[in-house]
Amino acid sequence: MVDKKINSEKNLKLMMLSASVLIGLFIYTMIKSDSVMENGSYLLGIGFLLALMTASFYVKKYKEKIREIIPKNKFQSELDSNIEKSNKTKQKVIDEPTRDENSTIEAITSNITFKDVAGISSIKEELEEIVDFLNNPKKYQKYNVVLPKGVLLVGPPGVGKTLIARAVAGEADVPFFYQSGASFVHIYVGMGAKRVRELFLKARATAPSIIFIDEIDAIGKSRGMGSNDEREATLNELLTQMDGFEGQSGVIVIGATNKIEVLDEALLRAGRFDRRVFLTLPSLQDRLKILKLYITNKNVNFDIDKLALDTSGFNSAALATLVNEALLNMIKRDGTSLLEEDISGAKQKVQYGKKQLNILCADQKEILSIYQASKAFIIKQSLSFVERVSLFDEGIQDDECIYPSKSQLEQKIKNNLAGSVGLEVIKKEPYAVFESEIQTAQNIAKDMVYKYKMEKSENDIIVRLKDELKTEFLENIDELNNLTDIILKDEVIVF
Ligand code: ADP
Repeated sequence: MVDKKINSEKNLKLMMLSASVLIGLFIYTMIKSDSVMENGSYLLGIGFLLALMTASFYVKKYKEKIREIIPKNKFQSELDSNIEKSNKTKQKVIDEPTRDENSTIEAITSNITFKDVAGISSIKEELEEIVDFLNNPKKYQKYNVVLPKGVLLVGPPGVGKTLIARAVAGEADVPFFYQSGASFVHIYVGMGAKRVRELFLKARATAPSIIFIDEIDAIGKSRGMGSNDEREATLNELLTQMDGFEGQSGVIVIGATNKIEVLDEALLRAGRFDRRVFLTLPSLQDRLKILKLYITNKNVNFDIDKLALDTSGFNSAALATLVNEALLNMIKRDGTSLLEEDISGAKQKVQYGKKQLNILCADQKEILSIYQASKAFIIKQSLSFVERVSLFDEGIQDDECIYPSKSQLEQKIKNNLAGSVGLEVIKKEPYAVFESEIQTAQNIAKDMVYKYKMEKSENDIIVRLKDELKTEFLENIDELNNLTDIILKDEVIVF
């Protein structure tokens, strides 16, 4: 750009110089020549050259304005349109990003595919659509179908959220940008926002691509929860960036969190993370599949079905570590096949080593089974879309009714209270299991009283519905025990 300016400056000076030389030559020829001036042609020539000189003078003086009026040359406009194409986006309010020489944001090529993810087949099915979209965008664009820009993976730690996101990138063979939410939270206001801008810029430049933000709650916490200017600025930038590109741009943002309830509502609104995928601790069948994956091509001499049964409460990461530790034990004793002793040593190590693990002993598994069986019993009777209840399910992912009736709201409260009431009936005292379900029940009752004026007291609603539940359980105690046995054995009840 600078070189071009210098060249045009030189050209103008050269034009002025040649015009002056030509004028000089004209005057000289006029004086020296014997010929008679005909039709004022000499004067015409001088006039023309003077005009040329004046024109070049004005061009020099007003060159910036003229540059604005004259259309860019073909190459320049082609370059611009290429840049626009590479962005593949309709940017709205996104500032020109400031490039950071020290940026650590780089994409990786994921070599993980769905084959490396054992179990969680329903989750894989949900994400297959995104893989297909990234692989065959035309198929969707033909019908103007816009896929979600953001997918939120919700679930406890170690259940494969990062793994499945990497598998989506691997299956689609697109760049994978991994960032943890905490890496955006800086001391200085604006730093996190700048990093968000840069992340999206890079992802767009290499689109189709996947941005994965782990622990998104670090930036996406509700703006009401304790003021923090830096986090707010970062969150606002994330929202702006997500609004600023079209669903067909080829950038998919996958966020992961284990605390969806603390996320700012704006993040969950349409056009942002409007698709949510819930992951839970692995079921018995999934634990078996995960264990089998990690012992592929290894000699084993232990009861793998029993191990799957004995590892209730292990997350997928702990299962991977368990097999790894067992293999270390095998190597230590110079063995060539995995034995029961390798496994039991490893199991203890993993159980004590992992703080976040919620390992269930037999008693605790029974408590949780009664809780979930009671929930299943009540849900089964309602006209709910829930198809199964698993041992570790917390909360009820039912279809939201936009205009629920009073009895529908009461049914929702009962679904959420069923577990704790069932336990109280069977075990003769209350247990503390899932606080979130009690809270949901309370919130619905509160809405019924204060928002919709359906009842006078939230407490009365809760007490009445608890009594109804108690009666239902006492009248159907055999059915409840039956369901408890099923969930104890299979860890899931399918309706
Ligand atoms: P999260 O992101 O939910 O905390 P990760 O995806 O980081 O969990 O999982 C940690 C590790 O656990 C993975 O690297 C992988 O070794 C193992 N893992 C998790 N889920 C699975 C699965 N479904 N199949 C196989 N391995 C898994």
